[in-house]
Amino acid sequence: MKASSYNITTLKEIPADAEIVSHQLLIRAGFIRKVASGIYNWLPIGLRVLQKIESIIREEMNAAGALEVLMPVVQPSELWVESGRWHQYDEGMLLKFNDRHQRDFCLGPTHEEVMTDLAKGELKSHKQLPINYYQIQTKFRDETRPRFGVLRAREFIMKDAYSFHIDDESLAETYEKMHHTYSQILTRMHLNFRAVLADTGSIGGSASMEFHVLADSGEDKIAFSSESDFAANVEMAEALAPQPDTAALQSIEEVETPKVHTIEDVSAFFDVSASHTIKTLIVKGTETPLVALAIRGDHQLNPLKTEKMPEVLAPLTMATDDEIKAACGCLPGSIGVVGLAMPILADRSAAAMRNFICGANKDGFHLKNANWDRDASHSAEYDLRDVIEGDPSPDGIGQIQFKRGIEVGHIFQLGQKYSNAMNASVLDDNGEAIIMSMGCYGMGVTRLVAAIVEQNHDDQGIKWPTVIAPFHVIIIPINSHKSEQVSTASEDIYGKLQANSIEVLLDDRNGHRPGVKFADSELLGIPYRIVVGDRGLEKGVVEFTQRNTGDTADIATDDIVDLVTKRVRSEI
Ligand code: ATP
Ligand code: MG
Repeated sequence: MKASSYNITTLKEIPADAEIVSHQLLIRAGFIRKVASGIYNWLPIGLRVLQKIESIIREEMNAAGALEVLMPVVQPSELWVESGRWHQYDEGMLLKFNDRHQRDFCLGPTHEEVMTDLAKGELKSHKQLPINYYQIQTKFRDETRPRFGVLRAREFIMKDAYSFHIDDESLAETYEKMHHTYSQILTRMHLNFRAVLADTGSIGGSASMEFHVLADSGEDKIAFSSESDFAANVEMAEALAPQPDTAALQSIEEVETPKVHTIEDVSAFFDVSASHTIKTLIVKGTETPLVALAIRGDHQLNPLKTEKMPEVLAPLTMATDDEIKAACGCLPGSIGVVGLAMPILADRSAAAMRNFICGANKDGFHLKNANWDRDASHSAEYDLRDVIEGDPSPDGIGQIQFKRGIEVGHIFQLGQKYSNAMNASVLDDNGEAIIMSMGCYGMGVTRLVAAIVEQNHDDQGIKWPTVIAPFHVIIIPINSHKSEQVSTASEDIYGKLQANSIEVLLDDRNGHRPGVKFADSELLGIPYRIVVGDRGLEKGVVEFTQRNTGDTADIATDDIVDLVTKRVRSEI
């Protein structure tokens, strides 16, 4: 490709609304352009990258035996009513509209409904199972906060796959295969990623994993073990029970604590660390109207874990100040675990404490040296809190550390949620109808482009790994319009590289100074650069630069084609 007849429109200025580096660089390098909030054009050079990502995904999905299909973006409401999600899908995310006959439609945010309906028609016998269909298709989600360019867009491209099974054992096998395939895809893209245990949420399936690309700009917080493969979403990571405190019990004391309401106030007043205090939270219960939760002062309640406890009403609902006053006789700032007339669920760490400080259930008073058993009793001991850095890893190896991640993929054992609702069954050997089990496997194709940039850039621009770079090599001739030998040598190298199937961009733009071309080549992130100039040619060399290391060397003009061809071929 010759730059003179290509569309290269780089920008010097950082676009005002681009908060993170991938958004800035993809706009500045002319890969994407905004059409409306969360909606983007892909320019020719950006599309090259997008298509390479798609091909890697396609190759690996095909290798895993998945079958490519293409489902529509526009979906009829009937299918969503059948699954029960027409009014239930994430508030406001579904973009609904009517056709000329006033029938309801939506733009597909995902394709479980259309897929289950398709499978219901195509799959009649258990002998057709297991089967895994996938597509690479546009989705639309009317996100509340589209931002970060294509990282959190409203219109985006996803690879989504849906597998169908006669039983959960077969589902688990395909799920494992997809786990492996996802790792393979992200490894081929040279990403530093982790497979992370995720919440199965309201869908209730039995297993779910997210694939996160590690980046400081990531919106998700992930808990890792410092020494093992363990990784989980922070809200999912288990906080293990600590060794119980064995200090001698001291006598309990009631202390007047005027204007002491928060845990910070309490630890300042008593001059102790918050880890010596217990905070008591009152929530709605299932068997009793209210339930108390006891958490160590320096820990945070984990609503997701808590609302899974049988005694606690889901979704987690805090008691109002009036309800607290009526039940505890004080305002929220003075509640404590001693003498409470309701069940107390203690977090494991809170349950291990001795001689702790807590509210006295009397406004303006706290208790010092309170102790379980002697002064208060809890009805259960649960894991109710978020893990913190330094906690032991739940697998017993190493300690918890936090990192931020960008979710690029999500695999899910759905079970029978959709197949049940939509009655998707096959006949078994005895001619009996069996509801199929389903798995679903999503991967954000356009989001991956941005995630790769987040991990591969410097102050000058993008540094694409060679497999996904829009071009493998850029040739910059110096003053070729004035120098016949520069233009002949550049064209010669260009032609030979092309003949070797190396993707090469010849920056033959007239009227651009070499400095501008160098800066552009770095901004665009092309892995290898060959500079052809009179001075070098007279010595029989060209200058060869590697984008990711910045290493530069003079290479004999006769050797450059071989060298670049070998390098590129070993990397794609
Ligand atoms: P998130 O938590 O980031 O909102 P999600 O969990 O809602 O994503 P899924 O329904 O699991 O997303 O979709 C599968 C994949 O699609 C995600 O892992 C992500 O890579 C991609 N994706 C989801 N929402 C967006 C978006 N708004 N823009 C770009 N890609 C997205
Ligand atoms: Mg997800």
